[in-house]
Formats: sequence, C-alpha cells, structure tokens
Amino acid sequence: MSPISAIISVSGIVQGVGFRPSIYRIARKFALNGYVRNLGFGGVEIRVEGERERIEKFIKLLEREKPKNSRIDKIDVKFGKALGQYRGFKIIHSGGRGSIGFIPADISICDNCVDEIFSENNRRYLYEFTTCTDCGPRFTTIERIPYDRKNTSFHEFDMCDKCKKEYENPEDRRFHAQTIACRECGPGYFLLDKKFERIENPIESAVKFLKNGKILCIKGIGGMHIASITTNDEIISELRKKLKRPQQPFAVMCPDIGVVKRFAIIGKREENALKSRERPIVILRKSEDYHLSDNISPGLDTIGVMLPCTGIQHIILRKIKEPLIMTSANIPGEPMIIRNKDAKEFKIADYLLLHDLRIVNRCDDSVIKFINNKRTFIRRSRGFAPVPIELDINFEKNILAVGAEENVTACLLTNKRAFLTQHIGDTRSLNTLNYLEDAIIHLMKLTKSKPDAIACDLHPNFNTTRFAIRFCRENEIPLIRVQHHYAHLASLIAEYGCDKIVGICVDGYGYGEDGRAWGGEIILYRNGEFSRVGHLEEQRMPGGDIAAYYPGRMVAGILYNIYPKNELKKILIRNGLRFRHGTKEIDILINQIDKDINVMRTTSMGRVLDAVSSLLGVCHYRSYGGEPAMKLDSLANKGKRLLEFPIHIRDGILNTTEILNRVLELKEDGYKKEDIAFSAEVALAMGIAEIAVMRAKIHNIDKIGISGGVSYNNVIVTTISKYLEDRGIEFLQHRKVPPGDGGLSLGQVRYAIDNFFTVL
Ligand SMILES: [Zn+2]
Ligand SMILES: [Zn+2]
Repeated sequence: MSPISAIISVSGIVQGVGFRPSIYRIARKFALNGYVRNLGFGGVEIRVEGERERIEKFIKLLEREKPKNSRIDKIDVKFGKALGQYRGFKIIHSGGRGSIGFIPADISICDNCVDEIFSENNRRYLYEFTTCTDCGPRFTTIERIPYDRKNTSFHEFDMCDKCKKEYENPEDRRFHAQTIACRECGPGYFLLDKKFERIENPIESAVKFLKNGKILCIKGIGGMHIASITTNDEIISELRKKLKRPQQPFAVMCPDIGVVKRFAIIGKREENALKSRERPIVILRKSEDYHLSDNISPGLDTIGVMLPCTGIQHIILRKIKEPLIMTSANIPGEPMIIRNKDAKEFKIADYLLLHDLRIVNRCDDSVIKFINNKRTFIRRSRGFAPVPIELDINFEKNILAVGAEENVTACLLTNKRAFLTQHIGDTRSLNTLNYLEDAIIHLMKLTKSKPDAIACDLHPNFNTTRFAIRFCRENEIPLIRVQHHYAHLASLIAEYGCDKIVGICVDGYGYGEDGRAWGGEIILYRNGEFSRVGHLEEQRMPGGDIAAYYPGRMVAGILYNIYPKNELKKILIRNGLRFRHGTKEIDILINQIDKDINVMRTTSMGRVLDAVSSLLGVCHYRSYGGEPAMKLDSLANKGKRLLEFPIHIRDGILNTTEILNRVLELKEDGYKKEDIAFSAEVALAMGIAEIAVMRAKIHNIDKIGISGGVSYNNVIVTTISKYLEDRGIEFLQHRKVPPGDGGLSLGQVRYAIDNFFTVL
C-alpha cells in the first residue's frame, strides 16, 4: 500500500495540557512521519504520512489516549497525497505571527506528582515545585505566548541534565513539561524571620512556627497567603486587626476531604468541586460539629474551604495535619502581594516563607458556592482565568470592557471569544487600578489583539470610567457606556445566547439611566434593546453612601414613609438601632430626612436587605461588601416558619416600605428573628419575581434570569426559582461568570456588540 497523508485539526482544550507530547507518542507508536503544532485559536494541527490503516488507528487512539486535562471538541481530517518530505515525527514550535495563542490556566498538582513528593526514593522527594505535563502553574508564569519554557518565568532556571533528559524523552511523563524542575535546578523555598534572617530547614521550621501559633506569609504560584492555625480565637483576632478585616470571612485549607467533613456539610458536588483541578475555594455550610474558631467567618453559617493545590501546600498541610487559615496577603482594596520585596514591607507575618520564582501574573484564588443547586462563581480567577468564554454571536470586532468599581475584571472580546482577566478587585485604590491596566495590556499582548471599541459603566466617577475615557482617546476608538443593570443582564445573555429575556437584576448599587441609584431592577431585553420595566420602591438613603455602611439609616429612611418623627425616633431607640455617633445621631438623622438634606433615592434590593438586617439587630455596620445581607441570609437559612408578609405591586413597583414595617411589627410581637428574616427574604423574592412574570407574560417571553450581587442570597434565589418553576417559566442563573460585578465586564462586552454600529 502506498502512503497517504492526513491533515488533522483538533480543537478543544488542547494547548498547555500535554497534548502535543501525547500526539508525538502515538505517532511514534504507529511509525508515522509528520509533525504536530499549535495553531491560533487554541487548536492543534497534526500532519501525518503513512499507510491509511495506520493513520486511521492513530486517529482513534488520539481520542482515547488524550491527556486527562485535555478536551477534544472537534476533529477534522483531510486525506491527501503523501509528500514524502518528513522524516520521523516532530513537535514543531509554534508561534506563527498573527495567530491568537491559547493561554492555559493554572492546574493544581496532579496525583502522580503528589505521589512523587511523598516517595522517599524519588528524586523529587519533598520538592515543592514538582509538576509535570499534566499539572502546575501556567497563566501565572506566562510572559508571552506560545506557552513554551522560554516564554515563562521558569526560563530563569536552567534545566539540570536529569530534568533535560526527562524533558526530551517522549516516554517520560515530563516530556515537554515547560515547568519541569527539581531541587538541583529549579526554584526553591526559604524562610525568613522578621529581621529577614534565613532560618534553617525552612519547611520543618515553618510548620513548627504555625503549630506554635505564629502567623506566616507563604508565597504560592499566583500570590501570597497569610497562614495561621484555625482553633485559636486570639491569634485570629490579632490577624484581623493587622489585616484590617474585622469581620470578613477567611478561607481555610484542609489536608484532605476527611478533615473538611469534620466541620462542614459536603455532598458529592461540593466534594467534586473541592477536588477539581482548578481547586477553588468552595463555600460550605458549617455542620453541627463545627469546632474551628467562630472568628473565621463570624456571623455566617458558611465557611470557605479549599484543598492544597501546589506541592508546598501538600507538604505543609500533610505535616501539620489540621486546617489552616489561608487568606490572601493584602490590605483590603489593595492587590495581593506577589513580590518578595513587598512581602518584607508587609509587616503582618512573623515569618516569611518565600521562593525565588517570579510571579508574572497575580492570580487570586477562585471562589464558588452552590446556590439553588447550581455551581456559582463568586470569584473567577486562579484555575479559570484567562480561559475564554465562547460567544454565540456573529460579530468580528474586538471589544474591551473594564467592569464597574469593586470586584472588577476586564474582558477582551476577540474572534468571538471573551477573555476575562483574573480577579482585579476594588479600583478605588490606585494600585488596583494600575493592576487593571497591566492585566489589560498583558491580555492584549497574549491575545495579540487591539480593541475596536471600549465599554464601561455609566457612572461618571468610577475610576474605570475615567480609564476608559482616556483609553478611547489615546487609541481613537469609540466609547460605549453601559448602564450597570443592563450589563448584568447582558452577561447572562452572553452565557446563554438568548434573544429575548426578562432579567431580575438585584444588587447594592448601580448608576441608573436617570442618574439615580438603581439596584432592584426588572430589565427587559428584546430586539437587541434593554429597558427598565419594573423595580423596587424608591427609598430614601440619608447621607448617600454612608447609609450603605450604617444600614440603620436605611431603616430610618424607609420607616419615615409611615411614622411621624417622634414615633420614628422611639422606634429606632426601642429597637436598638445603632449609628456611627450613637443614639444622639437619631435626632440629626430624622431632621436630615425631614428636611431632605443630602438624602439620595435608591431602588436597591441590597439596601432593603441591609435595613432588615439592621432592624433585626444582625448587623449595624458594614465592614466588608455585602456583610449585612450575608449575615441576614445566614439567619434566614435557619428560618422554618413562613410568616405572612404584604406583597403589593403597583405599576411594576414593589412596595418595600410595607415589607420593612412588617418586619418591625413581627419583631415587636416577639416572633423568632430567623423566621422573620426568612419570611422577609421570601416576600422580597416573590415580589420581584412577580413583577418579572407580569412583564414576561406581556411580551410573551418564557425565560427569566437573575444577576447582580443579591444572586448570592440563597433564600431569595431558591424562592424565585420555585416561583418561576410553578409558573412554567425557565429560570436562568449564571454558570460561567460571577453574577456579581466580577461578571459585569462580559455583559458590557455583550451590550457593546448590540450597540457597536450605532455609536460609530
Ligand atoms: Zn503532575
Ligand atoms: Zn533538575
């Protein structure tokens, strides 16, 4: 039989996961000549020459023996004449100009590598940077594409002869592993005390210090963590003081799943999420046997847990045999620390456990939670970023979007693929804003693309808006301003590809089209246009933003609708509402409301939940975003009895004054707080769902989706889901990006697609 040739194009997750080496091995098995190379857009091209029968077997095996982290979506085969110009089979180094490379996300250490780390006879015994073709840092080390060692921070370490042999041996599982390293040639850890003196036996000593209650700063692959033990309230209090996080929950890392089960409730899906190769933090319900410090996630019925994802984490956790607090090393609002120099200046830890590998891209831990049984991102970052989200659209232009203000991510659309950056954070900080800009530039470099337009929020004073205005001027491209809640719904549309939908867009705050504060919105999307078709009652927000920090102000603002001044004062005092300057502030506050001085108006669902939280005495001061509502939800989850609440809607507006007043009545009548919290959340959920249903019916729409930060509220989302299910309406929740502002940039991109040609 005469030889023929085949050009095989494979698409899916086939770059940065050891796909080419596996092709190489299979091709050699069948003695085929040719090559394999990475293509743009994340695909792989294989050319083989040989007998037809062998080629067909090769193709079959290609699917069967693919690396475990790869995914084949499509195989295209074109047979042709053999050219006879290839001798043997080669991996051709990619890097064709003009092509979009694929940027793989970081992968947690694989089981084989963990086994090696704990095998005394292995040459990588206890080596912290053990990785292979299947696992290890990717995005966090990549400077340029294609993903080859010379383009990563590992190029600063020359391979030793042994590593080189493994790297070049097709039979070795580290064949072409770009992050290959060993103790002889690769990066290593060292331990410093407060005077930056080196301490011997870094790992052993670090474990000993942790056990003795010391606070450590541990450098990982995407940034640094602050670590401490989890059972000592005093240490955690000290940590809170130092980190300026009085209440914000800390995540904990456990040696294995068995340890997690000792204090948290986990089902199969939570277990799978914890063990997944992305290794996110998973928010779990505390169990009755919860025995860690209550100071880890004060006032919450949940705790964020993760399993080790790198060699060093496995080594430390296995030695210490108990959970550790592992929270990112940063001051609130500032980016996580990645450089050794900054770790030394960050005077919080007693000891620094650092390494000498440069972190190219900062990448915070990802966070997920199961809400209404759906895996939901709270933060999409390490392990996921910057793997693109495919959009089902007919649009060839590139668009950049920059998010809103907090929990910012940017999104770059190119070739119908939406690349979201890693979690950036709160852009009110200049450092974080610079980080955003760096991440955008890096993403443009990696995708080799330039935006044809830029999208940002409608808010005139966000730093991201200012950045976008500057960027569009410098690059002479159009700017597209996107209303906050339209963007929320648009991100859901981007995920599901629907052409008409009603959105329940509920959060704390977004700048409305009328310049007012929105946040409890029903948004209609059809014929490529967005419109506001319902919302919560507009409420007073005395002092503007201060009312978001002191939710007692919202209570006063709302109840002012019903009660005369004197009575309102009595109610606030009687119910123990707390304010920044104590009860003496009450007179000033009521006067302020009465005279309408610096009193904003808001339709926000978040602010109403805050008010309920404050009125029930759950939370009087917000020390981190969403705190009053999160604590309220923790209380509501304990509620069993559904109490009657008034749900009154007029002209698509839900009366929230009556709902809060009902909370007051029930509380004063001595009902259980958890039942009141539960019932109030159910009432708000049913009210907003009913408006959405009414609007959907008018426009003959059978899909209703939810987006915005309130979508993290368990009771509200499950109530809406049930309400819609009973009425035969499909309910959409976010699956691919966070429903909070972390997913907003995708929505801004999606909105800009509809509006691109109208702004030109
Ligand atoms: Zn491995
Ligand atoms: Zn080596």
